[in-house]
Amino acid sequence: MMLLSNLCDYAVGREPNTTELPRLPKEFLKSMIEVQDRIPEPSRLSEDSEYIHVSSLLDLCPRQYWIARKHKVKLSSSPYSSDRIVWEIGKSLERHVVKQVSEYHGINLVWTNQNVFNNEYMIVGAADLWITISNNIIVIAEIKTMNKRDFDKLTKPVIDHVVQAAMYQWLYNNSELGKAHNKVIILYVCKDYARGSPYKEFHVDVNTPVMKLNVERALELAMELKEARDNDEIPDRWVCDRQDCTRSKQCPVSHLCWSL
Ligand code: SF4
Repeated sequence: MMLLSNLCDYAVGREPNTTELPRLPKEFLKSMIEVQDRIPEPSRLSEDSEYIHVSSLLDLCPRQYWIARKHKVKLSSSPYSSDRIVWEIGKSLERHVVKQVSEYHGINLVWTNQNVFNNEYMIVGAADLWITISNNIIVIAEIKTMNKRDFDKLTKPVIDHVVQAAMYQWLYNNSELGKAHNKVIILYVCKDYARGSPYKEFHVDVNTPVMKLNVERALELAMELKEARDNDEIPDRWVCDRQDCTRSKQCPVSHLCWSL
């Protein structure tokens, strides 16, 4: 009622009774958003699933994963507000690309973000786009976003992005679903205003000895994790060699790792 009567005062040109107005706290909205932004973001590795996502395999410490599951430690990160904004821009750009491709006349888009599982290694993966071309061949495409500085310098795809797409290709070819093209597409989207096209597209043959080796390494890691879980045996410590190394200092289960 108070607010309404003050609004009426404004409407009829009278000065409202400001002594009775509630005080607006300093940085009212900003402080709320920043508190929300700092809520820890659960890691994909903390998902209550028996399957490991192939994107997690690229930088995974099997010992950390095993300890976290065994001791019920939730793995998470505490992002800053700027991280959240950058993530949201990235997600929004990915949605834009998927929408534009899927609405293009004549495209045969099979899936977007559809999980494919492998029970031998207990892994799962979902490429951003799965497109059918002739003879029911699937083409796998990954969408990555970048700031302008990195985008301008980019002359070839980032190796981790190619390995990730190669893993999706392996998953698909080792499923009942069909055959994937030997080339994968990595599409980069610039997050800032770019002169000319904000897209760069690379086609990479992942059936090369080097890429097969990368996929084998990731599969070995997945098998190490599966066996550690099946046999209830803690994996060896090979990711960190010192308790005071950067990775160990940031590891949420470091205290357990060095005491077990
Ligand atoms: S301290 Fe290093 S080796 Fe140990 S669990 Fe953490 S990341 Fe892995």
